Formats: sequence, structure tokens, C-alpha cells
Amino acid sequence: MAFEGLADRLQSTLQKIRGKGKVEEADVKVMMREVRLALLEADVNFKVVKDFIKKVSERAVGQEVLKSLTPGQQVVKVVNEELTALLGGEQSKIAVSSRPPTVVMMVGLQGAGKTTTSGKLANHLRKKQNKKPLMAAADIYRPAAIKQLETLGKQLDMPVFSLGDQISPVEIAKQAVQKAKEDHNDYVFIDTAGRLHIDENLMGELKQVKEAVKPDEILLVVDSMTGQDAVNVAESFNEQLGLTGVILTKLDGDTRGGAALSIKAVTGLPIKFVGLGEKMDAIEPFHPDRMASRILG
Ligand code: GDP
Repeated sequence: MAFEGLADRLQSTLQKIRGKGKVEEADVKVMMREVRLALLEADVNFKVVKDFIKKVSERAVGQEVLKSLTPGQQVVKVVNEELTALLGGEQSKIAVSSRPPTVVMMVGLQGAGKTTTSGKLANHLRKKQNKKPLMAAADIYRPAAIKQLETLGKQLDMPVFSLGDQISPVEIAKQAVQKAKEDHNDYVFIDTAGRLHIDENLMGELKQVKEAVKPDEILLVVDSMTGQDAVNVAESFNEQLGLTGVILTKLDGDTRGGAALSIKAVTGLPIKFVGLGEKMDAIEPFHPDRMASRILG
């Protein structure tokens, strides 16, 4: 599970100053040296770590220790609050258009989990919010992608719009939105093509789809196992397309969690959901405060 290494290390570090009389600058310095190493080991972006340590140190040193807390707990509290802020602060929910359908464009590199996540998210909204989504197969380049989405649709008993692989993704997207209007679907998820690397053709085409259907959300699906690369991918897609959020997949694997901790700070984009497995119910809304508490144990 993600963050295990980080969680263990932070806990043992922060426990070191439990039980002493007050928050001393020297103690905070020693602790922050360890926290810094723990975050770097978790593959958190260097500048993000630097800013984080500075903020926590400034707030912790010289703070009055609350009566109910030990100095150690007091520092943990500051670390927890700053981790929550780093992870995005408030939970960021998925958009709801005032004129349905809400159009959600799913983008990302091949293998990140885009198609799987489209199914998971549509399923989640139907189950938790009683929504009626349509999924659209606009990845016409990966031969198995259309079939994969259709199979997911069957498995979930969820409608899938496809026009084969001989029609342009722009046209597929437009017609899918039209179909969703006719069928009174309140969400339409457009599964777009990915590539192994970011290239101009991919971006050009995604821009055209964006222009054509004016999505309410453009969600980037990134693989958390790719660490800092995930952050770079998010930066590039955001520059080119103007994303509205990120979904981090494969947090069930042995990812060190650095991507989750860096993405918001580096790109300004909220993490909206996380993927925790291959099954269709393995998705959760992302709660920064809960994640911070989990990291601190
Ligand atoms: P796409 O090319 O981006 O559409 O990627 P796919 O949706 O085909 O997913 C690629 C692989 O990653 C598949 O084997 C998925 O089952 C797997 N996958 C997707 N999300 C997760 C996740 O959250 N956890 C795990 N363990 N596997 C995932």
C-alpha cells in the first residue's frame, strides 16, 4: 500500500520528541531533518519538500503547547495540517453541469488506467449519486480500447457509445454528447486516446475534442507508480489542455506516494479520485485530511 515507508518513518521520527517539556527549536530541527529525508525517499519533488519543511518549522517553533498535548503531539498536529494542505486541503468534487449532460473528458498516457478508470468512475457515480452515465469510446488508435470499454459496459450494465475506429475522435465525442442528451444521461465520460509518450499529435487531437464538446471536466489519469514522472506528465497535459483535476491510479501497488504529495503543489490541480485496484469498485474520492492522517498513523 502507498505511503507505508513514509508513514513508518514519519511516525518513528515524530515519536522521538514525545514526552519532553516544550517545543524546542533544536528538537524541531532534528525532526525536520528526518521528515525531509522521509519525504525525499518517498519521491516527493525536491522543492515541494523544501517549502513544506520551511512552513512546518516556522509554525512549530515557539508555538505554545496546548494543554491537552505533549510538544511531540503539537508538532505532529502542525505536520498533519500542512500535509493536508499539501494534498489539496478540501476534498474536490466532480463537476455537475447545470445543463446536463456533464461532459467529462478522460485523458492520460497509455497504460495509466484511463479506460478502467472511466468505467470505475461512471459506476461510482451511478452507485453513490444515482447518476445515469454514458461512456464513449473515443480511443480509436489502441486496437483493444473500444472492445475493452464495451466489455466494461456489459459487465457494469452501462451504455457505451462507439462508432468503431474509422471515425474521428472529435466526431465520436460530439455524437456521444448528442446521444447522451437524447437518452437523458446526466454524465458522459469520453475515453480518449493515450500514447506511450506525450506528443504533438496526441495533444492536437485532444484539443480538438475539447473545442468540440466543451467538457465540464478534463481529468488526467496518472499512474502513481511512476512517481515524479506522473507530476511531469500532469504539468504538460495541464499546460496544453487546461485540466480540471487528476485521478491517481495504482495506489494499491508499492508506490512510495511521492506523486500524490507533489501534484497539487507543483500543478495546482486537485486530486479528485484515487484508484486502488483493478476491480470496478476499487475507486475512492480523495480526501486530503484522511490521507494525511493515514500517513501519520
Ligand atoms: P489505459 O491505456 O490508460 O486505458 O489503461 P487501462 O485502463 O487499460 O489500464 C492498464 C492496466 O492498469 C490494466 O491492467 C488495469 O487493470 C490496470 N489498472 C488500472 N487502474 C488500476 C489501479 O488503480 N490499481 C491496479 N492495481 N491496477 C490498475
